[in-house]
This record gives sequence, structure tokens and C-alpha cells, in this order.
Amino acid sequence: MSIQQAQVSRADFDQVMVPNYAPAGFVPVRGEGSRLWDQSGRELIDLSGGIAVNGLGHCHPALVAALTAQANKLWHVSNIFTNEPALRLARSLTAATFADRVFFSNSGAEANEAALKLARKVASDRFGEQKYEIISTLNSFHGRTVFTVNVGGQPKYSEGFGPRPTGITHVPYNDLAAMEQAISERTCAVILEPIQGESGVLPADQAYLEGVRALCDKYDALLVFDEVQTGVGRTGKLFAYELYGVTPDVLTTAKSLGGGFPVSAMLTTNAYAEHLSVGTHGTTFGGNPLACAVGEAVLAIINTPDVLNGVTAKGEYLRKKLRELGEKYNLFEQVRGAGLLVGAVLNADYKGQAGALMAAAERADLLVLVAGPDVIRFAPSLVIEQADLDEGLARFEQAIIEFVGQAKA
Ligand SMILES: *Cc1c(COP(=O)(O)O)cnc(C)c1O
Repeated sequence: MSIQQAQVSRADFDQVMVPNYAPAGFVPVRGEGSRLWDQSGRELIDLSGGIAVNGLGHCHPALVAALTAQANKLWHVSNIFTNEPALRLARSLTAATFADRVFFSNSGAEANEAALKLARKVASDRFGEQKYEIISTLNSFHGRTVFTVNVGGQPKYSEGFGPRPTGITHVPYNDLAAMEQAISERTCAVILEPIQGESGVLPADQAYLEGVRALCDKYDALLVFDEVQTGVGRTGKLFAYELYGVTPDVLTTAKSLGGGFPVSAMLTTNAYAEHLSVGTHGTTFGGNPLACAVGEAVLAIINTPDVLNGVTAKGEYLRKKLRELGEKYNLFEQVRGAGLLVGAVLNADYKGQAGALMAAAERADLLVLVAGPDVIRFAPSLVIEQADLDEGLARFEQAIIEFVGQAKA
């Protein structure tokens, strides 16, 4: 039996959806690899990867197989039971990382929420009620729950939502002296993105992460790496902490972990995990069999030398080509990032115009992202075909030609 579907279009969005998004003017209906098709049959190249989520592109056959096989077996059992896909995914994640223990949830914000609750619980159990301060960085992004918008360092996301949770401090990113000033015996956690994603694809300095690690050790504060965006192969390592050789106490990951199916994870060690004892935290859907079956397939494919080395090589290629385009059109002051998380920073002549360039790309049948007003962000499939990458770059050049012509005119 199939259910009758109504005809809908982009115009319906403005009538029936809460207006908190401003989606593109077309409605995607089908995807395959790094190509996407809209309702009219227009074909687009996707270098946005669903905002760093579609790590294996659209409808990867192995993920379709994992999801449909699980869909025919078992969807949901609640946390009164455990389930095989969750146990297997947790085995894979702990085998591949510093962590011994995993907590599954459904989104990046929820994984961060769990990490921050864990940090407060650990501090409360071990040192008492007065050790609850969380240090975060300016311009960071950690999700959209009331707690995580306040931990995030972008006031525009937390204004207007009532009293703020207390015990949260923000310091400039990559500023070790500021961190040293802010941290104290009262600090229970420092939370950092190893590469700030949403606010401009800005990598941490090596000495900064090493220095923050040492400060956290000195003050018995948990170091939480938010790898929601950088995790699961995005940077050419399974997790970005490996790029730096700086190991956190807690790591959160989401976006690419499900390749498009919602799943997130908080990873930590035995010593910290034991503080979240029975009943202290939970979720209805987290770790559900469908999500974990997909995550298992994602991890099995991405956590291989072939795929990870491919990410590194393609990332270098993409940055080189973008630098060439930047020079040819005098457009970018910097092209940065790691692996296939790449930011092209517009120079002084084009500040604030990343959105306009992204719109020009869409007119050239290409999907890219912005990361703040000045940065074009690329987060394509980690297994993008060379031909798709080249075609995407060719379309990006067309977009640049239109954009530069208009910007100068
Ligand atoms: C996207 C993102 C989040 C939020 O994830 P959601 O799944 O939208 O809750 C948190 N942290 C970082 C670094 C992100 O990029």
C-alpha cells in the first residue's frame, strides 16, 4: 500500500513552515553522489554536502542497503533495551578513538548538551557544587538549544530567549593568554571546535590546543572537542584531534556520522563516563537501530586509509584550485581549512558578500556554503568523484565571473 502524496512547491514553505529558515528557491527531490536534482529536473553539483553531513554523498548504495536492511528488521525498541547496531557502532567508535564509552543522541546540540552535563556532573561529584564554569570561545557554534546557544560564542543566536544560564564565559579563539586568564579552579570544562566551522572555517593553532590541554590538566577541567562538523573523516583524519595530536577528554560528533540520517555521539573515557550513572541522562531516540545501522556503514567506509587519504588529497587539490581562482580574479585573501572542510575568505574589496557569491554559484547550478559574511565554505562528499570536483570548480569560476562583474559594475 502506498500513500497518496499531495503536490507541493517552494511557495508552500512560506505558508506552512515556521519562517526560521530562508531556503533556496528550488526544492531538491533526488540526489546521487555529488549531484542533486530539483523538482524541474535541473541538475546541480553539490559541494555543500548538506552542511558537512552527506559525507558519502547522496544515496550511497552501501548506506541505502544498511538502512533498508535494518528497516526490514527493527526500527525502535527504547532504552529499556539495547540493540545490535548501537553496540556495533559503539564498538567501532571506541576502537577507532581515545574513548572507551559512547552516548548516542540525534543531533550535534544534544551531543554537546550531554558533554556539558557530563562535565558539570564530574566536577560536582569530584570537587563540589562550586566547580561549574564552562569556558567557550567567541564566534564558536555548539548548537541551538537554550544551553548550547549560550555556550556558543555568537550572541545573535542567544538574544531574546530569556535569562541566560549562568557559569559560561567566552574568550577569543586562538588566544592562549585569554584562556589562561579565564580558567580557574571553578572551571569544569573548556569546549572548543578544533576548526571553527560555522564562523569561518578557522583552524586552531597547534600551540593553542596544546596549551589549552595543559591548562585543563592543571585545573581539573574537562577538555571537550566539538567535532560535530570536523569529525568522521572531514579533515582527512577520522577526527581532527588526530591532526593535532591533542586528545580531548570528551568528543562530540554528529553531522557526517549518519551520512544524512540523524545520529550523534558523545565519546569519553571510562573514568568520566561512570559519572553519568543510571538515570542521570537520557533520550528517547538516541542510539536507535536505524540511525546506528547507517552510522556503522558510514564509519566502515570512511575509516579506511583509502578514503581518508583521498580526503587529504582532494582537499589539497581543492585549496590549490581555489587559490588559483582567487589570484586570477583577485578575490580571496586566504584559502584555509583541512581536508574537505575548506573556507575561501573574500578580500577587502568583497567583504560581506559571501551570500551574493553563493547565490551566483546556485545560478551556475552549483551548491556551496557560506561561513559567516566573508567566507565561502566547501564541505563536499568525502568520496566525491574527481570529475564532479572539476565540474564544480568550473561552475564556481562561472559564478565568480558573474559575481565579480556585478560587484564591480
Ligand atoms: C552543526 C554544528 C552543531 C549543531 O549540530 P545540530 O545537529 O544542528 O544540533 C554543533 N557544533 C558544531 C561545531 C556544528 O558545526
